Amino acid sequence: MKLTRRNFIKTSVAGLAGTTITAGVPIKAEARKITSADYGVENKVFLTCRMCAQNCPMVAYLRDGRLVRIDANPNTPYPSICGRGRAAAAALYDPQRIKTPLIRTGKRGSGEFRSASWNEALDLIGNKMLQLRDEGEPHSVAYFPRFNTASLLDDTIFNLYGTDNIFSYGDTCFGSTNQLGLGSVLGGGEEPRQGNSSVMGDYENAKIAVLIGRNPVGGLVAFPWGGMFGRGRKNGMKTVLVDPKKSLGVGETDTDWLPVIPGGDIPFLIGLAGELFKNNYYDEAFLREYTNADILINTETLLPVYLDSELDTPDYMVYDETSKTAMMKSESNSPAIFASCEVDGIKAKTALQLLKESCEKFTLKQAAEKSGIPEEKIIKLAKDLNSVKPACFLERGYRATRYFNSLHEKYLISSINGLLGVYGRKGGLIYGRYAYLDTPFSYNDSNEISVNMWFKENMEGFELCDPYNMRRTFPLAVEREEPYKIRMAFLNGQNPVGGSVGGYKIAQALEKMEMVAAVSPFWNESLLYADVILPDTTFLERAEPLFATYKATFPVITVHNQVVKPMFDTRNGYWIMLALAKRIFSDDEYYDNFNDFEQGGIKYIVDYQLENLELNDEDAATFSRRKLIEDGVWCGAAAPLKPMNKPTPSGKLEVYSLFMANWYNLLMQQDRTQEAQYYSPLYDYPPAYYQTKKDKLDSDEFIPITGFSPLSSFTGAQTRNNILLKNIGQNLNYSAVFINTKKGHDLGLKSGDIIEIFNIEEPNMVVKSEVQLTETVEPHALFSFYGVGTGLYTKLSDKLSVACPIGFNPNHIGNLTFMPVEASAPSQDFIVKIRRAK
Ligand code: SF4
Repeated sequence: MKLTRRNFIKTSVAGLAGTTITAGVPIKAEARKITSADYGVENKVFLTCRMCAQNCPMVAYLRDGRLVRIDANPNTPYPSICGRGRAAAAALYDPQRIKTPLIRTGKRGSGEFRSASWNEALDLIGNKMLQLRDEGEPHSVAYFPRFNTASLLDDTIFNLYGTDNIFSYGDTCFGSTNQLGLGSVLGGGEEPRQGNSSVMGDYENAKIAVLIGRNPVGGLVAFPWGGMFGRGRKNGMKTVLVDPKKSLGVGETDTDWLPVIPGGDIPFLIGLAGELFKNNYYDEAFLREYTNADILINTETLLPVYLDSELDTPDYMVYDETSKTAMMKSESNSPAIFASCEVDGIKAKTALQLLKESCEKFTLKQAAEKSGIPEEKIIKLAKDLNSVKPACFLERGYRATRYFNSLHEKYLISSINGLLGVYGRKGGLIYGRYAYLDTPFSYNDSNEISVNMWFKENMEGFELCDPYNMRRTFPLAVEREEPYKIRMAFLNGQNPVGGSVGGYKIAQALEKMEMVAAVSPFWNESLLYADVILPDTTFLERAEPLFATYKATFPVITVHNQVVKPMFDTRNGYWIMLALAKRIFSDDEYYDNFNDFEQGGIKYIVDYQLENLELNDEDAATFSRRKLIEDGVWCGAAAPLKPMNKPTPSGKLEVYSLFMANWYNLLMQQDRTQEAQYYSPLYDYPPAYYQTKKDKLDSDEFIPITGFSPLSSFTGAQTRNNILLKNIGQNLNYSAVFINTKKGHDLGLKSGDIIEIFNIEEPNMVVKSEVQLTETVEPHALFSFYGVGTGLYTKLSDKLSVACPIGFNPNHIGNLTFMPVEASAPSQDFIVKIRRAK
């Protein structure tokens, strides 16, 4: 079959027809067909995809020891992998992989290195780490791991060594905004962070999915999303895409694309909520039973008039419809959801009354103007949702923080889902379940506070930052030398320069290090600043422990076998970490912590994981070690449907978030009114950062937006120089930037022209890219796929001959700004200008 864009994408998303039921698990009928693998022509190896962080179960096929193809593991209810996963073979056999240890010879950023032996390279790193430990400053080492390194082992080594400065990339993709936005409604603790799999769309049973910033087919086609989404489409699910860019893979006929102005999701959401209120399209029974719609709120402070959240069942004041008085909820038989009253001289309204009135401050016309989505589209969507609720939902999107107002956006989405009564309902949003896999390695806390925790505890504006999933504090800490000097960076698979907005600031911080060590199979922007580079294997060349797939409605455990022997002079991440441990720990420390692993290898970890696996009775009945090894994957049962599963202050789903109200009130008391507006519990519209800079964009100005494709990964490290993906991607011009046709014509541009792009606040950093004119981009937006070209770091072109030598990565030149209080760095909240290249 000739590989074209169309059939590639088709074959990359799971086929959905012909399912059969075997041992309680639906299995694709095709999986039972006899293939050449059954005759011994090909060997079959089960593994877990590590081309991105989703851990999709897959199977690799070998002929004569050579990897010839990769497919989805058929032994799951939703066999599905994406183009990136299928193209892993091209990453494995990429002739421009890093083949030997390297030591820098030119200045940082120049890309000049010489080959070195493993001993020389490891000794350099080990000696520096020993020196810093001897000087009492192990905490001055900043460690940057990624999902595809020595899973379970590497963090332990750095903790034992004495640093808590483990800078995860979590703020780039899931991070605070998504977690707090959802948690503010669903609850979960003092800082209610809810992960991406806390609730998931029940695609298979949904009638309408409103996709805001996430498209499971056009973007991140993860297991089991891709398969569930595909089945939903087959079952007649309609999709409404609210995005400045119409994505790949969204059908023409049964998808309504609502091109929203970048940063304009909130006015759209307020307009939509206003229609739900105006037409009584909300789910009244659900709101009464499961939400805090009835809680009486002081209209001045926006806090509850009275709340006792210490009780087993929290109690609060409501307005009783029968007696027409305010009383405790526990005493009321008929609490009102819409009411205004006075309690001891305090003006009070029910939460739902306040939410409704906050929408009324914003006319539908204003909502349409500010969002770019026509009034009639908003009216129709509200009506359609009403007709199918609760079998519908608003997806709150992926990638954490795009704009200053993203937290408020995620809150509104989560609250509106409450108005529609979709939580824990068939076809709505259902709670995920996750298999927890333990680690045999223990952690030792450093004596020094981590940079992130110090910022959280000491810096105004960082009070709600996520101390475990942030890396944007690194350049700030280096610049300010607070709370202490960071002297060494160790990049293990992570590419913060290419993957984090404000990449140029991170590059500047790396330049100040006494040493930058790096472990990676592939070249990337950050490696240009390394002093020593150790060539890791790819995931195909090493066995790894068991993985839990975490973005699923049911628990999934996958195995990861080694597919081929390591190529070139590469070593797997576990070997590298142990070699380093031998150099930086005493014999006793090494023996106590790592001898068992050295003797037993990956099997030692797997045995530990299985011995400590805790399953409920239902799952235990379907789990067996033998079957896991034979099938390469085990899938448990989905959680039963229920409307909520985490505690909240009011004991109910908080369509009116008391977490937000508390922060709003606190910030107002501290006269931090600008920041407070981002924490309003009402349906308000705090501006994006770029909107505070300019009311109206000039004709040559755009807001850069980015998105996944099934062909490129977040930082491009595994996919940028991948010949298979390039062959498909060039049919899509995926290394170009895309702007609206009329805007392009007005600027005298045509598709294929080369343009220059720069941030209006950083005009000296100019990036070149090809431009494509299209009707599928909203006029204010300039779209690029994640991590495709070499962008600002043209020195990479010598090392990545398959990658596009130009191309735009907004992370390279984006402002490093921090969202108020929650402190994520908005990734798309800046203005770029374009001009024809000279
Ligand atoms: S989504 Fe694609 S790249 Fe990511 S793990 Fe799954 S198959 Fe691999």
